[in-house]
Amino acid sequence: MPPFPQCSTKCGKNAILKRPKTGDTLCKECFFLAFETEIHDTIINGKLFKPGDKVAIGASGGKDSTVLAYVLKTLNERYKYELDLFLLSIDEGITGYRDDSLKTVTRNKVDYGIPLKILSYKELYGWTMDSIVAEIGRKNNCTFCGVFRRQALDRGAVILKVDCIATGHNADDIAETVLMNILRGDIARLQRCTSVITTGADSIMRCKPLKYAYEKEIVMYAYFKNLVYFSTECIYAPNAYRGHARAFLKDLEKIRPSSIIDIIHSGEQLQVKANVKMPERRNCTLCGFVSSQDICKACILLEGLNRGLPKLGIGKSSKAKKIMNLNTDKRNKI
Ligand code: SF4
Repeated sequence: MPPFPQCSTKCGKNAILKRPKTGDTLCKECFFLAFETEIHDTIINGKLFKPGDKVAIGASGGKDSTVLAYVLKTLNERYKYELDLFLLSIDEGITGYRDDSLKTVTRNKVDYGIPLKILSYKELYGWTMDSIVAEIGRKNNCTFCGVFRRQALDRGAVILKVDCIATGHNADDIAETVLMNILRGDIARLQRCTSVITTGADSIMRCKPLKYAYEKEIVMYAYFKNLVYFSTECIYAPNAYRGHARAFLKDLEKIRPSSIIDIIHSGEQLQVKANVKMPERRNCTLCGFVSSQDICKACILLEGLNRGLPKLGIGKSSKAKKIMNLNTDKRNKI
């Protein structure tokens, strides 16, 4: 009797793992091929790229973006996508976390031979996350960080003149976001959070090649490929609400592994009634980047920090709007 069952592809080798997503028992090589082919299918079916595209991979040094960079490089060579790949990292300025994870990205740059651009909050906004947390405390730090990161990636993409930003969002992330948006009643986000490609008014396209890849399989792939990634959690990570959605999803996955994909498929099928008012996408009148308001959230949050009013832009927007409009009027008069 062999110690392990045969690989279920009948390749003749012994299986070494059971796929969390499908339950198939596979050898290492057949797992690599199945995992990579599913990502290739996501890219082809979703028409994520076209030949000659310049693609920035949002690289944090974590498992998702490391696997994404490795697999995109592999598929680009195997299937001749003809993509020009870049690594784009954002340095939020979190001592003891991002400084270490960026060392991993720098190593990925060398290992994979992909050029790297690092942009920092300090150079873009004049603030680091360390200084923001010193100012606002630990309650809304992820709101600042998330809003600034999203815009920082857009800014980096403009500097690199890329056609698309590929992010490492995996199936678990997307299913969690579906749950969170349902719980919050956020219809606009619920409608677009399962899209494999998103784009705003003249903003750069974003895509999620790992949309259907399970987090557990990403970890397995990185492990069996010996990929170097950074696995420490951010020192400012409270994110309690997402944490509840994540714990709930993990419980569901234990009972029925297909729950993750089922939630994504449910999200994809949701249709918003025609009479529901959706936010319009436009360009911020101050910085020019994509926004759902005249003045984008990043500009409002930054103005609040610079004026010593860090709660500006958190919660109800009417006060922030008033102050920002006053400032815009002043700027126009100068
Ligand atoms: Fe930023 Fe919050 Fe993520 Fe830390 S946990 S990197 S503060 S969004």
